[in-house]
Amino acid sequence: MRSNENFLKIQSSYLFSMIGKKVREYKATNPQGDIIRLGIGDVTRPLPEAITQAMHSAVDDMSSESSFRGYPPEYGYDFLVEKINRYDFAARGVKLENDEIFVSDGAKSDTGNIGDIISVDNTVSVCDPIFPVYIDTNVMSGRAGVLLGNGKWSKLVYLAGSEKTDFLPELPKEHADIVYLCFPNNPTGMGITKPQLQKWVDWANENKSIILYDAAYEAFITEDLPHSIYELEGAKTCAIEFRSFSKTAGFTGVRCAYTIIPKQLTVNGVSLNKLWARRQATKFNGVSYVTQRAAEARYSDEGRKQVEQTIDFYLNNARIIKNGLNEAGFKTWGGVNSPYIWLKVPETMTSWEFFDYLLEKIQVVGTPGSGFGPAGEGFFRLTAFGNADKTLEAVERIKNLFAK
Ligand code: PLP
Repeated sequence: MRSNENFLKIQSSYLFSMIGKKVREYKATNPQGDIIRLGIGDVTRPLPEAITQAMHSAVDDMSSESSFRGYPPEYGYDFLVEKINRYDFAARGVKLENDEIFVSDGAKSDTGNIGDIISVDNTVSVCDPIFPVYIDTNVMSGRAGVLLGNGKWSKLVYLAGSEKTDFLPELPKEHADIVYLCFPNNPTGMGITKPQLQKWVDWANENKSIILYDAAYEAFITEDLPHSIYELEGAKTCAIEFRSFSKTAGFTGVRCAYTIIPKQLTVNGVSLNKLWARRQATKFNGVSYVTQRAAEARYSDEGRKQVEQTIDFYLNNARIIKNGLNEAGFKTWGGVNSPYIWLKVPETMTSWEFFDYLLEKIQVVGTPGSGFGPAGEGFFRLTAFGNADKTLEAVERIKNLFAK
């Protein structure tokens, strides 16, 4: 008997555990310190009322024999799938069939589990910096190779972002079967334009590669950017898209998301839609009725209005953070189509040194860019998911600390 020893390769000091440990240690020696956390990407606004009302009513359905529901359909109730299709795709000119939409409990699970339907021999390409789940799940399944001294995995193809490219990845110079793209991006907050994304779609079709497109933050787009990769010509033959209600509608604790796999997407004649349907039917038993009613309510007139107000609230925080940082002399990215603001730390410090400096001097907690990959060294991420007063206060502290 052997365990899956690939798991042993994962670095034990996961980024957010390390941040938590440092904050706890600081608190233990400075119990009076008023710490403001702009680090982890969890939401703080309560669920919109239209959504909680729908949940209450769904709970009532479950308490009566005539409306009780048992196991949900593996791919989502029709009432939710139809709304997703109508409001998130048809309304943007994207035609999908309902059975190309798979409702799930999270984009994290889906971006991780998608590896089940692709060969372990595929070459995987990742952006750097990156949302760590894409790499760690490939390490677990044996696609990443071994960790090298430079912080990179031997079998992964890295697409390093930099100030010069505004952290947009350039097309891979070597062959990659799979590429993970995430726009608007976590951690850099940067969006991608249609012409820029079209280059990726064309490249993927020419090279018979597949794009795993994470659009978990599409609801934060304020500029003229694609919300879905399927707005691009040719994307249905080369892309899988992941969406989530987490950041859009405050579902981080409720859990609902969905993945799109077009039927035109085939690999050597095999339909990935069919494989995913098989995978989900075997390993996943569906999202609860109450949760799916909650997700459905996000698309009602009231639900759409209330969700928009929540997004505006976070985008306003993002503006405050970005403007404040710029006033304090920092170079920033993101924060316009995203709740994330990426900043360049002073030349004399590493990302972790900057983390320690902010915690020690002004009790503001952010996320060191190096935790998102080697190309994140020298950068730092702040998030707009906090409370408005605390966000303002954190920005004032940063401005005072760095005032020239
Ligand atoms: N994708 C990205 C890029 C994220 O930043 C996150 C959460 O932080 C997720 C997916 C996870 O989404 P979910 O809550 O639906 O699992």
